[in-house]
Amino acid sequence: EPLEHPPQNIAQVVSEKKTIRDFVIIEDMGSGAYGEVKLARYKTSRNSKVVIKYVTKKKILVDTWIRDRRLGTTPLEIHVLDFLRRDGYRHPNIVEMIDFFEDDINYYIEMLPHGLPGMDLFDYIELRMGMQENECRHIFRQVVDAVHHLHMKASIVHRDIKDENVVLDGENRVKLIDFGSAAYIRNGPFDVFVGTIDYAAPEVLQGRAYAGPEQDVWALGILLYTIVFKENPFYNIDEILDHPLRLPPLEDPYSDDCIDLVQAMLNRDVEGRLDIEMVKNHPWMLAED
Ligand code: ADP
Ligand code: MG
Ligand code: MG
Repeated sequence: EPLEHPPQNIAQVVSEKKTIRDFVIIEDMGSGAYGEVKLARYKTSRNSKVVIKYVTKKKILVDTWIRDRRLGTTPLEIHVLDFLRRDGYRHPNIVEMIDFFEDDINYYIEMLPHGLPGMDLFDYIELRMGMQENECRHIFRQVVDAVHHLHMKASIVHRDIKDENVVLDGENRVKLIDFGSAAYIRNGPFDVFVGTIDYAAPEVLQGRAYAGPEQDVWALGILLYTIVFKENPFYNIDEILDHPLRLPPLEDPYSDDCIDLVQAMLNRDVEGRLDIEMVKNHPWMLAED
């Protein structure tokens, strides 16, 4: 039986593949260690904007390629994002990949834009210096929900939780982005640190094997501290390893519950550190806004 719509020739098949030339770049949203991120729209449509993350093939580390029967060989970032868009694994506080494509130089991750272009939690903390405890909880809770979903449901660790990787819209709806350091928990324990030094747990900096979730919880502790005190808890690696936590005085002091949660996430004793389930059920998290 002949095919109903046989492709006329190879050239046509090739040209049907999506390429970066199908887009008009609207603006740069940032450039990181592995490439650039752009706000773009389809040439064929006026109004549908997308975010495109360029992942330079040359810069992808050897052990972060993954082979998959369905996807072929892709960077782990794309594999994880593809997993997270399957039925039952999507989450309202996790960025969604629409599509991906590649050329000789790059992979391109096409995502739904979230929020005001380029507004991440880092900028937001600057902008809203007087963030009240309720607002802070409202934002932090959504990050915790995302991480809880990753650890408990998807068995994924993010490994680069920080303010720049949390984006918000005008209504304080939050999404966790940047799965460039993420991994499947089953492939651990890990021994290489992949995230951002400021957010690295002491045991990870010491080169001890780590499962992943405990690193994410430590990073959540750094994140909450940063939101509450508007500064980093530790100024260098030595301080991360053993400086007592500074609790600077605040004009509008946060509740004891809040400070207790920060300290319990920043517990240097890995066994004593909260897991994400305990974070989610901490009294401060359960309090009403
Ligand atoms: P990198 O791995 O280089 O850090 P990210 O994935 O974190 O790249 O993206 C860089 C920046 O681009 C983010 O900090 C954020 O400001 C912006 N960004 C990325 N993805 C989105 C998105 N889906 N919606 C809105 N902003 C985004
Ligand atoms: Mg990032
Ligand atoms: Mg990254």
